[in-house]
Amino acid sequence: MTDLDKRQDRSPVPSAFDYAPAPESREIVALEERYGLFIGGEYVEPRSGEHQPTVSPATEEELAEVAYAGAEDVDLAVGVAREAFANGWSDIAPGERAKYLFRIARILQERSREFAVLESLDGGKPIRESRDVDLPLSAAHFFYYAGWADKLEYAFPNRSPRPLGVAAQIIPWNFPLLMLAWKIAPALAAGNTVVLKPAESTPLTALLFCDVLRQADLPPGVVNIVTGDGRAGAALVEHEDVDKVAFTGSTEIGKEIQKAVAGTGKKLTLELGGKAANIVFDDAPLDQAIEGIVNGIYFNQGHVCCAGSRLLVQESIYEPLIAKLKRRMGTLRVGDPLDKNTDIGAINSKQQLEKIKELVAAGEEEGAEVFQPECRLPERGWWFAPTVFTSVAQSYRIAQEEIFGPVLSVLTFRTPDEAVEKANNTAYGLSAGVWTEKGSRILSMAQQLRAGVVWANTYNRFDPTSPFGGYKESGFGREGGLHGLAPYLRFE
Ligand code: NDP
Repeated sequence: MTDLDKRQDRSPVPSAFDYAPAPESREIVALEERYGLFIGGEYVEPRSGEHQPTVSPATEEELAEVAYAGAEDVDLAVGVAREAFANGWSDIAPGERAKYLFRIARILQERSREFAVLESLDGGKPIRESRDVDLPLSAAHFFYYAGWADKLEYAFPNRSPRPLGVAAQIIPWNFPLLMLAWKIAPALAAGNTVVLKPAESTPLTALLFCDVLRQADLPPGVVNIVTGDGRAGAALVEHEDVDKVAFTGSTEIGKEIQKAVAGTGKKLTLELGGKAANIVFDDAPLDQAIEGIVNGIYFNQGHVCCAGSRLLVQESIYEPLIAKLKRRMGTLRVGDPLDKNTDIGAINSKQQLEKIKELVAAGEEEGAEVFQPECRLPERGWWFAPTVFTSVAQSYRIAQEEIFGPVLSVLTFRTPDEAVEKANNTAYGLSAGVWTEKGSRILSMAQQLRAGVVWANTYNRFDPTSPFGGYKESGFGREGGLHGLAPYLRFE
């Protein structure tokens, strides 16, 4: 047992407030024992004959068995999507397409509690976040793109926008329903049909979404969901009748997909990893910045591609800031994702927990100083206490690699130029944060930071109207806003 494991096992420190449990009921979710693939508007048995369990990361309880698509299943789904594209969906009146999207958005709102509970159950994220962030934003994406469906000629004047055909979409496990909404809403608004593969560890909200599609009377075959592992993802990318590939996930798999797609004429967008700098100047409102730092790295257990995982602090405020941060970390409640008081839920999978532990051990070995507030972690399930590393050098793995967990690395700077240089010293370029009272400094930093999104005096703000995407190893292409429509269109 490492020193860190021992510290995590200690009994809880008495805190100022004891919270009584406030669990959200699971009753609203009706789980099937077994799920098939959703192809042509029906749940069908996989031709691969394979099913695998999906488990709750908080309890390791098996929730349901889910079909694992093989190449033959993917071929069937793409064929059905092609047929739906050719036989109606691509040329129905755009206003009709919009109606379906509006309907989906409204149904998501109506069933949001059911979805939020299921998202927390299958993925381990706190119910407070799935209820207040994932669900409202998912519905907002459908509402937003519904509005564009019949205005494409205005969005791209004199360019005759036309749909591409069949979109293959592959999503990760950190925001399962929200990533589905980011992918499906613009694709449908532009007149494409879709085959989507959810992540292996979080398929359930995508499968519940199939029910929403049926409730909305979406024509069969317009959206098809093939669950499974990386093999299904690869088969989808390589299928020759796919016109567009949209992927969110690791940089490693993103590179493989880019190689597979090269020379095929398929359009591609990649939204990959990040190692964002959250930069705090000495004139920043400190208490507000602490909340932004905590939100930046501990939101969704740090399973966020744009997480503010590198904190850059101006040297003159280093000590008071770290003292406040540690005190605030001591108030974070780690535990049952379905408890409405929980701030930090379960780590999404055993593999991800191993990866976090490996990188944290590397940080300790390389010489950084680790701090974790004392907290008792549940015995079953996969958990990691909120962690902060100080005395971090830029060359350490914890300052370079995406940890994708509740682990913050703190570095310092003296001048704005040094902050820019350190912030940009990464292979990634997805997002950044700037905390300062000076508007001119915000603008000057935003111009120099090589990041797709720069938040000022806030962090992790998302809006469907705002484009999101990266530079360098964070990928290319944008999702959200008008920018998010263009990759699903060709122009005549
Ligand atoms: P992956 O990139 O492996 O997974 C993302 C999606 O791609 C999943 O649906 C996955 O399926 C699928 N996939 C896997 N292999 C292939 C392939 N060869 N061709 C096509 N699709 C494929 O991410 P992981 O879940 O393995 O996470 C690993 C690391 O990636 C994390 O530790 C984190 O650092 C980073 N990550 C970054 C994300 C981001 O938003 N930037 C999101 C998720 C992870 P399956 O789930 O079955 O493996």
